[in-house]
Amino acid sequence: MADLKKEIENRRTFAIISHPDAGKTTITEKFLLYGGAIQEAGMVKGKKNSRHAVSDWMEIEKQRGISVTSSVLQFRYEGKCINILDTPGHQDFSEDTYRTLMAADSAVMVIDASKGVEAQTRKLFKVCAMRGVPIFTFINKMDREARDPYELLEDIENELGIGTYAVNWPIGSGKRFKGVYDRMDDEVIAFEGADFRHEVKAQRLSIDDPILEGMLPEDQYQTLIDDVELLSGAGDEFDLKAVHEGRLSPVFFGSALTNFGVEPFLKKFLQMTPPPTARTADIGVIDPFDPHFSAFVFKIQANMNKAHRDRVAFMRICSGKFERGQDVLHVQSGKKMVLAAPQQLMAQDRSIVDEAYAGDIIGIFDPGVFSIGDTVCDPKHKCVFSGIPTFAPELFAVVRQKDTLKRKQFVKGVEQIAQEGAIQIFREPNAGMESVIVGVVGVLQFEVLEYRLKNEYNVEIIRENLPYEHVRWVENDEEDFDIKKLQLTSDTKIVEDLKGNSLLLFTSPWNITYATDHNENLRLADFSENA
Ligand code: GDP
Repeated sequence: MADLKKEIENRRTFAIISHPDAGKTTITEKFLLYGGAIQEAGMVKGKKNSRHAVSDWMEIEKQRGISVTSSVLQFRYEGKCINILDTPGHQDFSEDTYRTLMAADSAVMVIDASKGVEAQTRKLFKVCAMRGVPIFTFINKMDREARDPYELLEDIENELGIGTYAVNWPIGSGKRFKGVYDRMDDEVIAFEGADFRHEVKAQRLSIDDPILEGMLPEDQYQTLIDDVELLSGAGDEFDLKAVHEGRLSPVFFGSALTNFGVEPFLKKFLQMTPPPTARTADIGVIDPFDPHFSAFVFKIQANMNKAHRDRVAFMRICSGKFERGQDVLHVQSGKKMVLAAPQQLMAQDRSIVDEAYAGDIIGIFDPGVFSIGDTVCDPKHKCVFSGIPTFAPELFAVVRQKDTLKRKQFVKGVEQIAQEGAIQIFREPNAGMESVIVGVVGVLQFEVLEYRLKNEYNVEIIRENLPYEHVRWVENDEEDFDIKKLQLTSDTKIVEDLKGNSLLLFTSPWNITYATDHNENLRLADFSENA
């Protein structure tokens, strides 16, 4: 028992979010480097460079230089067991990010110091705010000309509506970036020369150390003294409770590429970010320290590695300990099963785990039984975690196979990709599967579908875009409710999702209003908990 408590207390599970190019991959690599999980950073310079960051694994990601899916990386650092959930930066894959954030206990938001809050930062932040996830901010690229730090903080507060607390403060930027002043330890970390492989050599000096005055150019020294005075007079107390409730974001300045301030950030972040937090299930709040195993599936991914053509369900352990070969209950199917070969992933390298604890993410070989949001638990202590909402797609197309002889592969491919949550599929009631209606949030998802069907299932498709832009799930399930009798505009379409739920596709918001105005009892929802 003491072991269980210690193991769980030592775990830290977080996601890294950013607008593309802000430096998420670079900072992830630096973390792995400090933890000894990799020997050398990929040094992702240009996106065309042939060497890729360890966390980008799919072929399409390599070609496009974007992260399509989230990967999970585990490493140890200073006695802590750390799980990093990488998330796609591109907005077309926000839904995947949302699901990943359900599995995290906090998020690190990487911001480009010359740009401040960008479009995708805003979107991803909203998703964190919806769940009250604690957010830590790393303002990156201080080795380039940066915006004024006061302005950057103001930007975060105004744009995102969250309080900020600068844990450290930059001394200059660009060529004049000399280090940071650590407000909590009341000392200056002055950097001495760059080293891309390791944390740079740094000297820790008290703010009134005379060496400091000699070390900095006169104007920078004066600015530093003024800043320190201003900050101490600001009267904003550091409040860890507010951080844990997602109301206050601790802010750090640094440069991931040149290794300025990344390790000091990691150390402080690990002290402040919470150990595994409790999750809500039907029977109440599940305490992570509860010895009975429970977990939920937040991601399904097929064919991650050409050498293993299989499908992996990723689950976040919410309570207790998992041991290899243990009997578990898959609640949604009601089946007992043995999770024989759970895997932990270090990007492309997989290793079999013998045990895992609350806070950990494990990948389980999935013979096609799991769906996103499913619960897996100790058969004697059944619980059901609340589902992961499915968001309304905004783009629709009819998709069919070019070669009619390949219908079987087509159906299998489309269904599997939809089960993974990479796309949503709909059918007209009573229609066959010769063609399906595919719904996505971003147009790149269509391209991923096309690419994967061709490469993994050997099926070429024809896609015809549809004019619909809005979808609503019909919530009525009364006996006397007949969807065919609804009064709808002629361009509104009735369809069903994979689980047989009824939906309406609309071309405009006006048509939604028409539907609700002309059908008194109709209840519509813009997301589904059990799609
Ligand atoms: P991601 O899209 O957020 O994962 O961003 P990457 O980590 O791939 O970084 C995007 C680009 O910015 C790459 O060319 C990096 O080398 C560069 N970069 C990342 N961090 C820094 C930094 O601290 N300073 C500078 N100058 N460039 C950086």
